[in-house]
Amino acid sequence: MNDTSSLHPILQPTFETVLQRNPGEAEFQQAVFEVMQSMSPIVGTHKRYAGRSIVQRICEPERQIIFRVPWVDDKGEIQINRGFRVEFNSALGPFKGGLRFHPSVNLSIIKFLGFEQTFKNALTGLPIGGGKGGSDFDPKGRSDGEVMRFCQSFMTELYRHIGEYTDVPAGDIGVGGREIGYLFGQYKRITNRYEAGVITGKGITWGGSQARKEATGYGTVFFADEMLRRVNDSFEGKRVVVSGSGNVALYAIEKATQLGAKVVACSDSSGFVVDEDGLDLEALITLKEVNRGRLHEYVEGRPHAVHTPTGQGSSIWDVPTDVALPCATQNELDESHARTLVKNGLKLVAEGANMPTTPGAMALFQSAGVLYAPGKASNAGGVATSALEMQQNASRDSWDFETTEERLRQIMIDIHDDVVNTAEEFGRPGDYVTGANVAGFIKVADAMLALGVI
Ligand code: GLU
Repeated sequence: MNDTSSLHPILQPTFETVLQRNPGEAEFQQAVFEVMQSMSPIVGTHKRYAGRSIVQRICEPERQIIFRVPWVDDKGEIQINRGFRVEFNSALGPFKGGLRFHPSVNLSIIKFLGFEQTFKNALTGLPIGGGKGGSDFDPKGRSDGEVMRFCQSFMTELYRHIGEYTDVPAGDIGVGGREIGYLFGQYKRITNRYEAGVITGKGITWGGSQARKEATGYGTVFFADEMLRRVNDSFEGKRVVVSGSGNVALYAIEKATQLGAKVVACSDSSGFVVDEDGLDLEALITLKEVNRGRLHEYVEGRPHAVHTPTGQGSSIWDVPTDVALPCATQNELDESHARTLVKNGLKLVAEGANMPTTPGAMALFQSAGVLYAPGKASNAGGVATSALEMQQNASRDSWDFETTEERLRQIMIDIHDDVVNTAEEFGRPGDYVTGANVAGFIKVADAMLALGVI
């Protein structure tokens, strides 16, 4: 899969070392390979990045914590999960990144996420390092009480590793406002301190930020809007497909609709729904966020909506669209999906999820001339707004929705311009992958070089 010979000769032994040191960690290897492929234009010409093992150091997490999470379910039975926190890079600020609760979570997934987070956070221009954590706990079908007991047990270990100046977790897949509440509550209880800045994604009345919940989805659409603007186009009248139906997807649907697009499809793990009238966001929010229901319930009473269950040979990427916003999970969009999308007239992809597009699909989009933005640039609005939440906590202030959303919009415009300018500077105009990887790398590497060999 990862053809080492396609890398710059200076990087080949470094990537071989990554493969040897992280055996079997396919997602982590994939994420590192993608960044290294983008590095060719700079390692040959900028000797400072080729020497002193800077690339190798960037691929090695500063600290990796794995711990047991025992808890008691509603039947009184003891359950054991595995908890992770990978503190990847703190050259630019305290480790920062979400927690993912999903049965697929393992060390490879958390390391790939932490690695990507480091570059993403650098692109925001805000003082945050990169980290990620989570557990193989599956919140699906669990009662509130079970989720609370799990979160309390998880934090009983995690609290000793985190802090406003050390490591600041937040949410990711399976971790939303409810889980952040239970996690922060346990942290507060154990430490006897109201340290709001220790975690982000909090509720508005207890230290959270306006627009944080919406930020990843909104930010992805703001970024895509800039991509369209660059080619004198806009969302007005565009047909849009958004995969997923979690926090990121729902608010991407909302913002794209506000900008004049018609969002016709979204999905969850059990299938996808197409509504040619345009998705009814209020109904989706009630279904997914309030009732924690499944998507097939959406079609009841809607004559133009069709639900297709997973495993029937078709996927959401069969739905013809101008714009695709993958907002579900890693490697959800493969080469054959990409081929179908291109055949159906796709113009733009902006990733709301982390690494949702496989390398083959990414190459296909780029060679077909589809505008393509990698998640580490286009979905950076979530973590950027977490950094704004940290600012509000540090100054004991709280901003209104409009102020916060406008800060987010400006940050996304700045990231877009930084990525575009970097791609141009390094001879790859319009290549958002090279632009994002190189711009993020330079910020992190320069700080690491300045701080010495640590
Ligand atoms: N989990 C989100 C991401 O992938 C947000 C992390 C945060 O807010 O710290 O960027």
